[in-house]
Amino acid sequence: QRSKLPHVGTTIFTVIGQLAAKHQAINLSQGAPNFPCSADLIRYAHEAMQAGHNQYAPMSGLPALRQAIVDKVETLYGQRYDVDSEVTVMASASEALFSAVTALVHEGDEVIVFEPAFDSYIPMIELQGATPVVIKLSAPEFAIPWDEVAARISPRTRMILLNTPHNPTGNVLTAADVARLEAITDGTDIVVLSDEVYEHVVFDGELHHSMSRHPKLAARSVVVTSFGKTFHVTGWRVGYCLAPQALMDEIRKVHQFAMFAADTPMQYALARLMAEPEHYLGLSAFYQHKRDVLSQALAESPLQLIPSRGSFFLLASFAHLSDESDSDFVQRLITQHGVATIPVSAFYRDGTDQRVIRLSFAKDEATLRAGAERLCRI
Ligand code: GLN
Repeated sequence: QRSKLPHVGTTIFTVIGQLAAKHQAINLSQGAPNFPCSADLIRYAHEAMQAGHNQYAPMSGLPALRQAIVDKVETLYGQRYDVDSEVTVMASASEALFSAVTALVHEGDEVIVFEPAFDSYIPMIELQGATPVVIKLSAPEFAIPWDEVAARISPRTRMILLNTPHNPTGNVLTAADVARLEAITDGTDIVVLSDEVYEHVVFDGELHHSMSRHPKLAARSVVVTSFGKTFHVTGWRVGYCLAPQALMDEIRKVHQFAMFAADTPMQYALARLMAEPEHYLGLSAFYQHKRDVLSQALAESPLQLIPSRGSFFLLASFAHLSDESDSDFVQRLITQHGVATIPVSAFYRDGTDQRVIRLSFAKDEATLRAGAERLCRI
């Protein structure tokens, strides 16, 4: 079979997940909680199923959920999106990203993307016959080099793909970043695709700079986020995107033929939970505590931690410890020490290896402490 993605193998999250299971390792790899979601949320889903909400939802999403989303976004970020035409509930943030790229990026276009990059971004761009224009972020800050972005914009640049808070680095965009982005895109027809699935996981009192907080950027942006990350239900596969109508019309053309609609009872349940904002307003403090538990428990480990300002992730360098590749190091941690992490080279198209691993702290405290204890003995 002639591959459309000849350089792509099985995603690292599947590979490491299987290896971790085989060796019964403590799993600090995937950005997925190992603790339960709200019992109310499960009850709401159950009640929705019992009430007979088991057939297709509207293509654009359940009206009550779309309303809850636009109300939340207006309250938190100030932008009023039209409930009928500017928000779509998607079968996961991944589907939202994929539908947006498929709908908006043409063959021969260029898309600016920053590495390390979540592993789906570049393949999504390549599947359109478009060219990823890759800009590298450097440790320990992983700040976007805006002069380089400006220099690499061309008449073919169609999109800039951003992710804040950033997986895997834990960087978050600042007001200065947003000002540069606004200036650089001003007067162009560049679309900003903003992956904000960790929007409610920003630490140390920093602000989440959603594109929907900045009207000029909101007018050219597709904002994508996830209920899975926010309500501890990554397996439900429900997310959403926001965009001005002209962009959303095109995105829906793809969504309607890829998924048609997201899961019905889950949308009923999520609409009810959205009426309880404490679930997401408390999330930064909840995960900041987990970040701190893991960091403190790793204080005695030989790993060199790179500070995280948001997301579920913490990076750690082992470059001073070993000449192994990060994949070999991760493999050895699983097989010999019983703890699973992600090699950061998986977030580079060319496999750039800076001997850094990613640890997920979306885990209960016992797991974080047990994993850290093993990492202290490597
Ligand atoms: N976003 C999560 C992570 O980075 C899960 C990714 C996945 O399993 N596809 O770990």
